[in-house]
Amino acid sequence: MTEQQRPRIGVLAIQGDYSAHAEALRESGAEPVEVRKPEQLAGLDGLILPGGESTTMLKFLEKRHFFDRLVEFSASKPVFGTCAGAILLAREVRNPPQRSLAALDAVVERNAYGRQIDSSIVTAETELPGGPLEMVFIRAPRIVDTGADVEILARRDGSPSLIKQGMVMAATFHPELSHDRRVHRLFVETVAAATKN
Ligand code: GLN
Repeated sequence: MTEQQRPRIGVLAIQGDYSAHAEALRESGAEPVEVRKPEQLAGLDGLILPGGESTTMLKFLEKRHFFDRLVEFSASKPVFGTCAGAILLAREVRNPPQRSLAALDAVVERNAYGRQIDSSIVTAETELPGGPLEMVFIRAPRIVDTGADVEILARRDGSPSLIKQGMVMAATFHPELSHDRRVHRLFVETVAAATKN
């Protein structure tokens, strides 16, 4: 892709491993933009909400109408939430309940795997072409329910771990921490397709 064709994709850079996402986006053909203020959403073709601590991220977003701007953005542009970001995108959050952007028809339970196995690397089958997918889980949530329009692209122990509903994607793992770029490439392709319309 030439520079001009590279979609500009924001990475919410409040907390967490946003720089690994920016690098993964660059390797997947996009131009990453770190987003720290709601004004910086203007002109972006898509946005990644990274992992971190969703309660901390929420507190930050509730200032300066950032939350409301994100609700608008995620209703009209492609967004991808990983781990805490997936929690932020869900329709409903449990354990405990908390506010969310409700961009994705999914119910998410936080910290669902307990202390003993709070971090693990699982390799499992995926609907993405190219064979099994490595998934790095860190204090991961579990997707406990999805609506009829949600595609399930990978699972962990039977529960969806990578899902897509139109322009919205969510992963309960950290694809930016693996070398495999298939997940970021899928998001960049989703953004590129939405930008053409
Ligand atoms: N446990 C975190 C939360 O509930 C998510 C963990 C992560 O993003 N790695 O917000």
